[in-house]
Amino acid sequence: MSASQDVRIGGAATVAGVCGQPIRHSMSPVIHNAWIAAAGLNAAYVPFAPGEDNFETFVEGLRGGAIRGLNVTIPFKEQALACADRCSDLAKLAGAANLLIFEADGTIVADNTDGPGLIGAIAAQAPGFDLTTSPVVILGAGGAARGAAAALALAGAPRVSIVNRTFVRAEAIATSIAKAKGGVVEAASEDELDALLAQAGLVINATSLGLGGGAGPAARLELTPKNAVVVDMVYKPLRTEFLRRAEAAGRRTVDGLEMLLRQAVPSFEAFFGVTPPAGVDVRALALAQLGDAAT
Ligand code: NAP
Repeated sequence: MSASQDVRIGGAATVAGVCGQPIRHSMSPVIHNAWIAAAGLNAAYVPFAPGEDNFETFVEGLRGGAIRGLNVTIPFKEQALACADRCSDLAKLAGAANLLIFEADGTIVADNTDGPGLIGAIAAQAPGFDLTTSPVVILGAGGAARGAAAALALAGAPRVSIVNRTFVRAEAIATSIAKAKGGVVEAASEDELDALLAQAGLVINATSLGLGGGAGPAARLELTPKNAVVVDMVYKPLRTEFLRRAEAAGRRTVDGLEMLLRQAVPSFEAFFGVTPPAGVDVRALALAQLGDAAT
């Protein structure tokens, strides 16, 4: 950032940030500050890493407009929803929030932009894919899986099957979403996975397997129909082992970086009241940040 861009952070600056533990490797500050600079806003976006037991105290201290808003990441998304006074239908259905807005009257409003980010990434990297006719398999049942399952159910996916190492976590998501949506979301056991893959139009890795370069989930992607789309939420490395196996089997793939960039857009709009300026290649900036992991 140049010196002339630095002076935009004046006394009237709007401040937003991202909160997680750890937060050191978050890409969100790079993305949001690039948009802030390009839009010429008097604003800043900063990282926060409260201790794992201090999230609620941290958020309570921000009530009343100390900052405009927060993105929330691992491991605080479910706590973030619990801290809010109001929330969107999607955050409620997901049972998790990745966006908190602090209103001047002291209220906190929660939303979930992970699911819309996922759907936007699929539209961008697998154009023509029809969610409404495609059974979905989600691997994982953490905060990211919650947002994905809720958004896919709301978008009209005919069936969403959640498969997780810890079955009760998948069951908890399925039960809460199915109640609201009429049974299209289910928990399935690992023994059922092959049969589910054989019918899946969309397979999503929402576990943290593959993060940092290890093996992804062992799901047999070659069993899926040839026109199936495979998504990995993990974006470090960009081309995960899971996506490489999908590509080797001839399936279309969607990477986690595209999802990350797309979930940032509605957050930026909520924080700063403007759409991210066109012409900023945030994907290139993020890839530069990934360094060797970008390949
Ligand atoms: P989380 O709440 O910690 O959930 C982690 C999930 O991974 C759980 O389902 C967990 O299973 C599973 N898991 C972890 N280690 C495993 C192992 N050895 N074998 C089988 N399953 C294992 O994390 P999250 O917030 O949902 O995030 C999940 C991943 O998505 C992370 O890599 C995160 O970076 C990524 N993500 C990306 C985006 C994006 O925009 N691209 C957005 C959100 C998250 P158990 O329940 O059995 O522990």
